[in-house]
Amino acid sequence: MEEQKSVGTCPVCRQPILPEYYFCPNCGAALRTHPLPTSAAAQAWLYIFSAILPMFLFLPIAKWKGLAYAKSEDPKMKQIGVIAFGIVVLSTIITSWLAVVWTQDAIQSSLNSINADMSA
Ligand SMILES: [Zn+2]
Repeated sequence: MEEQKSVGTCPVCRQPILPEYYFCPNCGAALRTHPLPTSAAAQAWLYIFSAILPMFLFLPIAKWKGLAYAKSEDPKMKQIGVIAFGIVVLSTIITSWLAVVWTQDAIQSSLNSINADMSA
């Protein structure tokens, strides 16, 4: 007898389905809502990336020369450091503001499509 994969049934139409199916081939029902990979390679990559992610965030900060400039006694270097710090602060504010605007845009457009569906 050949090897058989464990066969389930579609919760909608009760047709036999394979566990790797995302959609029922008979009725099209979604069997899995979040098809994220769970293979060993995908897990290894995620764990490695999680381990090195803080380094990606903190290494550039450690390498940032702005603080050394700002602490300098030399007025020219100090000015450069203060300007660099100002750019970091400004960039942080703009990035945060864009994140808020884009999030609100996304919420607004999904609300609009829900309303359009309801009134259709
Ligand atoms: Zn089905």
